[in-house]
Amino acid sequence: MNNDIKNGCHVMAKPTGSTCNLNCTYCFYLEKHKLYRESSKQFMDQYTLENYIRQHIEAQSADVVEFAWQGGEPTLAGLAFYKKAVELQKKYAGRKQIHNNLQTNGIIIDDLWCQFFKENNWLIGISIDGPMELHDIYRVNRSGKGSHQKVIKAVTLLKYYQIEFNILAVINNHNVKHPQKVYNYLKSLGTAHIQFIPLIERENRNAPSHELRLISPGFQPLSYVTSWSVEAKAYGQFLADVFTAWVEKDIGRVFIQLFDSLLGVWCGYPAQMCSFSERCGHAFALEANGDIYNCDHYVYPEHKLGNINETKIITINNSERAKQFANDKKLNLSTDCHFCPFLKVCHGGCPKHRFIASSSGQKNHNYFCEGYKIFFTRSAPYMKLMRNLINRGISPAELMNMTVQRE
Ligand code: SF4
Ligand code: SF4
Repeated sequence: MNNDIKNGCHVMAKPTGSTCNLNCTYCFYLEKHKLYRESSKQFMDQYTLENYIRQHIEAQSADVVEFAWQGGEPTLAGLAFYKKAVELQKKYAGRKQIHNNLQTNGIIIDDLWCQFFKENNWLIGISIDGPMELHDIYRVNRSGKGSHQKVIKAVTLLKYYQIEFNILAVINNHNVKHPQKVYNYLKSLGTAHIQFIPLIERENRNAPSHELRLISPGFQPLSYVTSWSVEAKAYGQFLADVFTAWVEKDIGRVFIQLFDSLLGVWCGYPAQMCSFSERCGHAFALEANGDIYNCDHYVYPEHKLGNINETKIITINNSERAKQFANDKKLNLSTDCHFCPFLKVCHGGCPKHRFIASSSGQKNHNYFCEGYKIFFTRSAPYMKLMRNLINRGISPAELMNMTVQRE
């Protein structure tokens, strides 16, 4: 994502803060309520909602404005909240086109929600970590019961109403061991769009109960990585194996965000994913009370940039602190990254994950580096072939025929 302010910004809105109707073991956001202990406002009120809608539209120079709703669990804000949001978007859109996407655990999705999504053309992201035996390890309710059955009910409804949806799978220490099983299962659910998010969190085991237990970015040492986090090498192997399966059968049929983004980079376009961009993406997190943070990964007091009920989003986006944060990703690269053959496609990964020492002893190196190298090495020859096909005006899907011939 470009650092030029003329390009506007992304805002991930959290109208219910960290409130959720599940209690996923690995969730990094559930404990954020500790930041708002004093506040009675865990849910976004109409005054903040209206400021958000008006200011977010005003802050964008593009003709299309994206609204991203996340949580916690955003559906807990209720249907009436989102009906009001759509009404306000119409009021302030002017000539701009409005798109909405909502990331949900699917638990309370019913016919009424689906009718609303369909009528207003919302794109839905649904969180599923694989088949029941893998999904239910961590994605549980407060009594520890797995949520898979309810999520699949939601997927069935989304399909029935022909709502566009994609799947977001968190890759953790368990499902990472089953790349084929996870990939085949997610494909079978009826969407062609899949995202993988690697799970890595570190904890301060001595933190008092009123303080955040999960450590803020950059803090050492590695020994506090949570047990459910994925190992770098295992994640790289997972990506490489899914990539091999995708290259054999699914190019042009299944769209995996990371593979699409990487192919774009090989073809000379900017990365679609901020993790692999040169700079961070002016991609703010908006809490229920209007507080804005640098990024969803940086909701820590020291990264609060302001509150939209006091300072406009466009002003926050143009602030030196926001620009500095975006540029720091490039400025703080480790020396190993500067000499890495994959720098152009990796850019050192997300700064949140830069907390280990590199092989040459450099601090603040990316935890996933070893895994990224496995994946980039496996994918590079195929990426080059697909790039060559595209440059000749041929679909990259032709690679599947070439692969078959080679075998
Ligand atoms: S901190 Fe990570 S997730 Fe946030 S904008 Fe930067 S690269 Fe993206
Ligand atoms: S693969 Fe590793 S060394 Fe290379 S740019 Fe990425 S994080 Fe840096």
